Amino acid sequence: MSCISRRLERFSLSRSALAVLVLLVIGATACQQQSVGQVEPDAATVLTGLRIIDGTGGAPVEQGTIVIQDGRIVAAGVLSDDQIPASATTVDLAGKTVMPGIIDAHGHVRAVDDQIPMREDLLKRLRVLADYGVTTVVSLGQLTNDETPEVATLRDEQESIADLDRARIYTSGPSIQGQKSPEEARASVAQRVSMNADRIKFHMGDGSPREMSADTYGAIIDEAHKRGLRTYSHIFSVQEANEVLDAGIDVIAHSIRDQDVGQALIDKMKARNVPYIPTLTRDLAVFIYEDTPAFLEDPFFLRGVSLYSEEIPTLTSPEYQQGIRESEDAQAIKPALEQANRNLKILSDAGITIAMGTDVGGGDGRWQGYFEHVELAMMVEAGMTPMQVLVAATGAAADVSELDHLGRIQPGKVADLLVLDANPLDDILNTREIHSVWIAGRRIGAEGTN
Ligand SMILES: [Zn+2]
Repeated sequence: MSCISRRLERFSLSRSALAVLVLLVIGATACQQQSVGQVEPDAATVLTGLRIIDGTGGAPVEQGTIVIQDGRIVAAGVLSDDQIPASATTVDLAGKTVMPGIIDAHGHVRAVDDQIPMREDLLKRLRVLADYGVTTVVSLGQLTNDETPEVATLRDEQESIADLDRARIYTSGPSIQGQKSPEEARASVAQRVSMNADRIKFHMGDGSPREMSADTYGAIIDEAHKRGLRTYSHIFSVQEANEVLDAGIDVIAHSIRDQDVGQALIDKMKARNVPYIPTLTRDLAVFIYEDTPAFLEDPFFLRGVSLYSEEIPTLTSPEYQQGIRESEDAQAIKPALEQANRNLKILSDAGITIAMGTDVGGGDGRWQGYFEHVELAMMVEAGMTPMQVLVAATGAAADVSELDHLGRIQPGKVADLLVLDANPLDDILNTREIHSVWIAGRRIGAEGTN
């Protein structure tokens, strides 16, 4: 497949002709740069001796081999000798387990440090994510309008950087909130398209009465679909879930937290294959800092301390913690999280597609990198099996995010891999036993950090 057509895969052809034209130009430039670096194709890399959890939910392969060339997986499984190129560089990973790099289907990557250039701030966060094995993040809500083109540039660059050393990123631009009319709603979608966002997110509004009328949020969804973009909604209740489903939503981006979901809602989700992203750690972060949580001293947490140290003093201050203890809103999230756990189990058992998401980077103490692993453990705690949770964080997250080139260890997919010293099917906490992280077929931080 040509570079340009691969680039267009991520975008529906129904986007405006102008946007497509711009992409073709950018794509052609990227291809030129890429082809210069590929006059001599990379020698293949072969990883051997691995247990392979491929992201599909299929039984793991023991003693598997993965062949990687030019950043993509060429073959994976129990391979015969003739499937392994003679000139390949072989890496013996006997006893290790490999899974696709983790995809966070609902995170945030925002530049909040005004002491350094925006691009450097974003890259710093993406590198911490990658160090934790989170190789892709879908940022569902930028802080500012001018952040969005910067993130979109990072997104477009990542397709052609051979030695990418950070998580891949996709973005909705700022979440749409509080639009007063369908016309305003359509204009806000158009604005995000002009900022080069690749999906659309909106808030129903946490208050009552609803901030946006049905006509207005319906116009957001309709306008996004006309432009070929997927829509995500921030919701809280069964009623809000019903309302956005009736309006044609593509992804429910938070837990339903007010009551058990019933069969009617499940049927509605199934009828259009609408997936569900629970973001359990988002709710945890609302109340957990009423005291100083023990995990702040966990060595695996401290792996990200270069980034996290910015926020720790706030979260451990007596005033902040007292504020959480005395906040009715914060305390109300405790039962809401219990409800979220129940609904995750109900929806997973009902066969609804679940994608792992966290809302990391979207507020205080939502740790980019560490909390993806906490989310996985909380999903198991809620009643999903480790295999179901690993699929939610890899293959299903790719499907839900429409990132067909990511999320599975299969021929043709990008070789973003998380190699572990222990098997996460035995214990989900073993996703933290990181041996190495590979992005586009190259081990990152090979000289020390990993
Ligand atoms: Zn969010």
